[in-house]
Amino acid sequence: MKKLGFGLMRLPLRDADDPTSICFEELEEMADGFLADGFTYFDTAYMYHNGASEKAVRKVLTERHERSEYTVASKLPTMLLKSKEDVPRIFSEQLERTGSGYFDYYLLHALDKNNYETALRLNCFDFVADLKRKGLVKKVGFSFHDSAEMLDKILTEHPEMEFVQLQINYLDWEDANVQSRLCYETARRHGKPVIVMEPVKGGRLAEVPAEIEAMYRSAHPDWSVASWAIRFAASLPGVFMVLSGMSNLRQMQDNTSFMKDFVPLTADEIRMTERAAAVLRGNVSIPCTACRYCTEGCPKHIAIPEYFSLYNKSKESKNGTKEYKDLIARGYGKASDCIGCRKCEKSCPQHLPITAYLKKVVGLFEGEK
Ligand code: SF4
Ligand code: SF4
Repeated sequence: MKKLGFGLMRLPLRDADDPTSICFEELEEMADGFLADGFTYFDTAYMYHNGASEKAVRKVLTERHERSEYTVASKLPTMLLKSKEDVPRIFSEQLERTGSGYFDYYLLHALDKNNYETALRLNCFDFVADLKRKGLVKKVGFSFHDSAEMLDKILTEHPEMEFVQLQINYLDWEDANVQSRLCYETARRHGKPVIVMEPVKGGRLAEVPAEIEAMYRSAHPDWSVASWAIRFAASLPGVFMVLSGMSNLRQMQDNTSFMKDFVPLTADEIRMTERAAAVLRGNVSIPCTACRYCTEGCPKHIAIPEYFSLYNKSKESKNGTKEYKDLIARGYGKASDCIGCRKCEKSCPQHLPITAYLKKVVGLFEGEK
């Protein structure tokens, strides 16, 4: 299997304010081109695009391609589970939404300390083992957002897990919070194959300061900036899949062009990504990956990832004030509308202090300190 997976979490939209308004014409062209180039892996989840991502699997793949042509991964939303009854109900809904008959890869979604406790309390590990016995899932694993120590605990207590999905990119590699390298080494020590998520860090490693771009271009004028990030992740031994959340045809074509016959980075090229990470660490203000896990439960409908992205782009120049006002005019709550309920912080896989960061947004765009 080729090492590039099609992440179905940032799909092309007809209406930027409606995550369910997927542009199927473009998505079908992207998926067909992806398959035609010999790639097979598609990664969705119950919560992506408010449920529309799993439905897109049916429309774009199940109804248009033979089941043997593609591989589907989906995830049990541990963060949404309230009772034991939720678990089989949601799984049945996922099968119904996708129409895929079974999942090639099925993950407990976003395990961290809290979600792991939920998964234990609601017998999720037994549930997925049973699904495997019934042939409804082929391989079971989990995606993970916590410390390497926590990962070691889960893999020790659940050696039956067949793979892990980790956030790995060259910026988070030595990050004390994300612990990409330490988690990767832990998975390797337990002998688990690794799927990489967020290799481009929600798009942040596709738009880098001019000095990094110049360094990359001087080494390889024909490589896109984003490709350095995907190549970094795919070069790691034991990584069998790198997911890229592709939002348009151009991104898909760029990714497949170099992942078709993938050649790992050389030691010199890896050193360049380390230099880039050092520069970026000095520039990053709010390390949000735009995963949107925080937005659904916000009672004030605050555009958290959009505001953080604007903040990162504009903190020097205040250029984003107009875009900020435009977002509010489109019906989003202002950053200052935040009531501090912290629902968002409980669902943030990066464990960001969202409420504190929103105060910075207020300071920059609403003229308050
Ligand atoms: S703390 Fe603020 S931003 Fe977070 S969910 Fe509550 S109101 Fe929304
Ligand atoms: S604040 Fe956290 S949960 Fe929200 S989009 Fe950013 S990384 Fe994701």
